[in-house]
Amino acid sequence: MEEKKYERYVSCKWLESGVCFDNGVYGSNVKLCCYMSAPGGGNTMIFKDYHGEKIDWDKFFEIKRQYRKIQKEGGTVEGCRGCVFLEDKYWLQEDYIDNIIFDHFTKCNCACKYCYTEEDKKHYNSLKTYNIYPIIKDMFDKKIIRRNGAIGFGGGEPTILPEFDKLIKLFLKNGFDDMRVPSSGIKYSKVIEKGLASGQLSVVVSIDSSSRETYKKIKQTDAFNTVCKNLKRYAKAQKRFYTVMSKYIIIPDVNDNREEIDNWLKFNKENNIQILIIDIENSWLNRYRQDKPDEKIMDLMKYVIQKTKEMNFYRLEICDRAKYLLSL
Ligand code: SF4
Ligand code: SF4
Repeated sequence: MEEKKYERYVSCKWLESGVCFDNGVYGSNVKLCCYMSAPGGGNTMIFKDYHGEKIDWDKFFEIKRQYRKIQKEGGTVEGCRGCVFLEDKYWLQEDYIDNIIFDHFTKCNCACKYCYTEEDKKHYNSLKTYNIYPIIKDMFDKKIIRRNGAIGFGGGEPTILPEFDKLIKLFLKNGFDDMRVPSSGIKYSKVIEKGLASGQLSVVVSIDSSSRETYKKIKQTDAFNTVCKNLKRYAKAQKRFYTVMSKYIIIPDVNDNREEIDNWLKFNKENNIQILIIDIENSWLNRYRQDKPDEKIMDLMKYVIQKTKEMNFYRLEICDRAKYLLSL
């Protein structure tokens, strides 16, 4: 059997074997990754102005190899400068993809106040997208895609994508077991249920509240009861795996109180939702970054950490923004 060839240098899994299908403020493009928080700015293109055309995979990997070459020679791809995902290790010298982010759609059935689409909801809800399924099917047919990485979604609401069911079924059938789908939870998805039952997929619903009134203020949609009902159904489907995740983004002056948090924790516990995620609203944090720590928000975050321990939840994930706040 031919031995696999590895070489050691500084690179990242996205640069080496990842792809992001994007459609956002920079237009519709195929990129190395979806991260733009690196000092270099990320946003490194593979194909600019891409709208679902058939992909020439030789050309695709030729471009990726050029980025790889920069890293191998000790340089850094400009967009990757200072990125926290760069690591010095042995990288497999083959052309393949195992990490994918689907971010080629912006339409959503919800209207969260903190969402980037709020700046022009009508525009983002009508932005033209393309069917990604034939491209992914082609990757499978050409054996370009491998199973060891993660499959994720941006968006938009993934479950309202016309090709969503077919796409997820393709990954499930091929044994992918690390898929994470963020969803508003407004539309119940049978294919998500299938992935939860087999433990190959996790769903993240940012409910951010525990009452209809607070939910409505944040989501500008009257769907609290529907989302609770769907979360319960998903939780029942997850069998022995903990794959349903309930997220709470703290929005100062809207949901930043212990009562709302306590009832959110209670709801999750009662329904066997064992993985929680805590975050802080992005625009508030950006406004506040220069100032001294806000005692009320810090206390609330510490309260969530303490309560999740006391109540024996399986895991609490603390998002980067919340971690930053706690480090102050
Ligand atoms: S910006 Fe960061 S995550 Fe993206 S390809 Fe570069 S190093 Fe990787
Ligand atoms: S559910 Fe997600 S995509 Fe939809 S409005 Fe909320 S944050 Fe935006």
